[in-house]
Amino acid sequence: MSRVAYVNGCYLPLRYAVVNIEDRGYQLSDGVYEVCVVRGGRLIDEARHMRRLARSLGELSIRWPMEPSALAVVLREVVRRNRVRDGAVYLQITRGVAPRNHQFPPETVKPSVVVTARSVDIAAADKTASEGIAVVTTPDIRWKRVDIKTVSLIGNVLAKQKAKEVGAAEAWFVDDEGYVTEGASSNAWIVTADGVLVTRGANNAILRGVTRDVILDLLQKKGLRFEERRFTVSEAIESNEAFITSAGNLVMPVVRIDGKAIGSGRPGALSLELRRLFFTQADQSSLWWSPSSIADGPNLSDK
Ligand code: PLP
Repeated sequence: MSRVAYVNGCYLPLRYAVVNIEDRGYQLSDGVYEVCVVRGGRLIDEARHMRRLARSLGELSIRWPMEPSALAVVLREVVRRNRVRDGAVYLQITRGVAPRNHQFPPETVKPSVVVTARSVDIAAADKTASEGIAVVTTPDIRWKRVDIKTVSLIGNVLAKQKAKEVGAAEAWFVDDEGYVTEGASSNAWIVTADGVLVTRGANNAILRGVTRDVILDLLQKKGLRFEERRFTVSEAIESNEAFITSAGNLVMPVVRIDGKAIGSGRPGALSLELRRLFFTQADQSSLWWSPSSIADGPNLSDK
């Protein structure tokens, strides 16, 4: 079965799904994106993803290409047409097509929309989680607004490639003061010797992950101790457990950082338990949307 993509109003087989070479996403990385988990054919935590999308669009002054409720229909249709039961749906919105010029194009230029979906092998991901992954650290050379989920990912691309070249699955960015900011495509966590879960506070230095927020809610609900604060690479290496969170990986144990074993060198019990519990906290309801839930929802930077 050929995969199907939605491109600016049309559902097309992937090989015919193309964008204009003057699209500002292609020319200038002038766009934003979201990746939402699909389980059992349903979008998980859709409302949180849509609120983050609203924020990303707002921060870059890109207008909604269509009503959020219409976009919700497109997302579902792409999932359906690709017969994705378990996987992810990808959504990209750029400022649109215009002659290459740094300044914003006229208001009449419509934002471009692309949506794709793909299946994931849950068993393979669970096997990886049962073994844990290695992480390599790298200087955080990115711009100062990584809290916006833009398609400008060259810093992340270079970090991820560096990880691959040393046999690691993820790179952790380290700021100028030696503190871990986040992963190249995930948020970074450790569990201290006292059993306190630690992840960096959400400000301009990290992307505020939806998975991160779901886990924080879970910790609160379970009464587990956590702190939103910075941690250094050496604190991470000396910690009991480490893990990453993202829509792609959910909760993925980290067993080595820069070649050094974390804890026992095996995935931590707490990390695996949080992976198991993720869907108990994630919102699996399918009818989240109403125009007001986006417009009036909490600003993501408030929390
Ligand atoms: N940080 C970065 C740089 C990411 O690219 C991602 C996900 O792609 C995350 C964090 C985690 O975000 P989420 O949990 O919403 O997938």
